Amino acid sequence: MHDFEISVSNLLKGSERVYDFVLQGSIPDLFVTSSRIPDDALIRVDGRAEAVGEGVFVSLEVHTRYVGECVRCLGGVTGEVVGQSRELFVEGDDAEEHYGFRGETLDLRAAVSDLCVLGLPPVPLCRDDCKGLCQFCGADLNEGPCGCSGDSGDPRWAALDQL
Ligand SMILES: [Zn+2]
Ligand SMILES: [Zn+2]
Repeated sequence: MHDFEISVSNLLKGSERVYDFVLQGSIPDLFVTSSRIPDDALIRVDGRAEAVGEGVFVSLEVHTRYVGECVRCLGGVTGEVVGQSRELFVEGDDAEEHYGFRGETLDLRAAVSDLCVLGLPPVPLCRDDCKGLCQFCGADLNEGPCGCSGDSGDPRWAALDQL
């Protein structure tokens, strides 16, 4: 068993109706364009598995951290990723509307990975009012006006400033 597998033998046998669990581990290569989960970041999963008629219903809550690059000033951004989902696992192969499983083990890795990626900010900002870099001289405008004379008010840049 790896970090994100749980045994559901008691649920399937009917000797237990609900199984609460906590899992921890890391998963590499979880990223979107401007942010990612560090390969060594601990991903904590609080979950509950319940036997239902069709299979096993799993509620998941993930907590981990991300690092990213501010889309305006390119400075470093860090933050917490939190995500919740409820997934149905049905014996057999993965299908569009549910995950599959075989035997008495549920592999939650794909569900945890999806949840982590969904929780990553697609457009990270170091702070909500980040002023970004001067498009002419590259100065960090958070540190004050750059004083360069290049500000011609090009409307193409004004659109980017809205990001
Ligand atoms: Zn910034
Ligand atoms: Zn400037």
